[in-house]
Amino acid sequence: MKTPDVTAALGDKKLQLAIYSATARLGERRRETITSDHEELRQYAHDIKKHTLDHLDFYLEQLERNVEARGGKVIWAKDGAEACAFIQNLARKRGVKVIVKSKSMTTEEIHLNEHLEEVGIEAVETDLGEYILQLGGEKPFHIIAPALHKTKEDVSDIFEKHLHSKRETSPEGLTKIARVALREKFLEAGMGITGANFLVADSGAIVLVENEGNARLSSSAPKIHVAVSGIEKVIPRAQDLGVFLKLLARSATGQPLSVYTSFLAGAKREGEPDGPEEFYLVLLDNGRTRLLADESKRQSLYCIRCGACLNHCPVYRKIGGYNYPWVYSGPIGKILTPQFMGIEHDPWLPFASSLCGACGEVCPVKIEIPRILLELRSDKVANDPDRAELWSFKVWAWVMRHPKFYARLAPLALSAAPPVGPVKKWLSQRDLPVPPAKSFRDLWKERSK
Ligand code: SF4
Repeated sequence: MKTPDVTAALGDKKLQLAIYSATARLGERRRETITSDHEELRQYAHDIKKHTLDHLDFYLEQLERNVEARGGKVIWAKDGAEACAFIQNLARKRGVKVIVKSKSMTTEEIHLNEHLEEVGIEAVETDLGEYILQLGGEKPFHIIAPALHKTKEDVSDIFEKHLHSKRETSPEGLTKIARVALREKFLEAGMGITGANFLVADSGAIVLVENEGNARLSSSAPKIHVAVSGIEKVIPRAQDLGVFLKLLARSATGQPLSVYTSFLAGAKREGEPDGPEEFYLVLLDNGRTRLLADESKRQSLYCIRCGACLNHCPVYRKIGGYNYPWVYSGPIGKILTPQFMGIEHDPWLPFASSLCGACGEVCPVKIEIPRILLELRSDKVANDPDRAELWSFKVWAWVMRHPKFYARLAPLALSAAPPVGPVKKWLSQRDLPVPPAKSFRDLWKERSK
């Protein structure tokens, strides 16, 4: 893919204001809820994730045994095609025509909605932000706030056009319109599809964290519940949730805890008044085991999708979520995409960072994003070196080690001569500061007289 042209996003004042104010608000709320035990919790979460991913085969097998002991069924999907095919076949067999879905980046990753639409099954997003985007034919702009870039007026336009509702611009009124439309879908749906925030190996439970209650309804109202999750979401014990639930809510939205936390273990059992009659957990690989094999970048899989790195990234906060090549945007997208898709697909991506380090500072599971970005840059150079750039740096390094040459060449380099070759390319997107009238060496000589 070509480097995206971000000029449209940068020149869109309304978009700039929307991204800036929403990410600033989320960042501010996060700071307000940080407590004195935050660093300790981050380290604890990092260690749990490290331990789990270092022993992933053990915990996945334990999870499978416990899900099946509670009447659920685990489906191992090598890739998106296998996961989509399983869901399509199950829906066909059970005569399901309508599916309600709660927000899930994993199902975005495998293009589940598009797949179901192609085979004539209606999949309705029930998270308010996702619903707005689905009606408007757009993709999520942010991991946790998918419609972050939409104003109340934009949402009203979409509802007027697709739901034929009256003009309404209050958040409460707009939510009510969506709620009425979605209730119908919940009643019609034969299957509910959710993601999973955590998979608990020692109990076989899946944990869903949300603020709207739609995931709870999607997983309990229809007769069939399918949870689609990456294999990396497993944690060893229910007691580890104390760490992750706090960190996730604080880092994502600055809440002490999210409004709804559901623990779902298997299908409805005899005597239980509600819940699905069938429960399936689709465990998706889709390239994750390849990442797992790379010890130094394995921690990319620790991500709990809180979105804090996006909210603090100076690049994401300018270009927004639609200028990244894959579903995962911001700093986490910059390290996941090249590892999932191959560095050759978007070799520019790890370079689209100022390496300011804010992402690594706020990440609740302490993923060293800046270090991984540097490693990916080095992988790109090893795979496909830019010869002109390499030679320029070799010459530069030689000159820097030879002060006499440096003293002679520096004034020439700063002369008015137009830049050429890699320097010209480098300067095409950067401003070169105006050089001072006198160099440090000149000043030193003058003052030493
Ligand atoms: S990389 Fe860290 S900060 Fe970014 S979304 Fe994942 S857990 Fe959150």
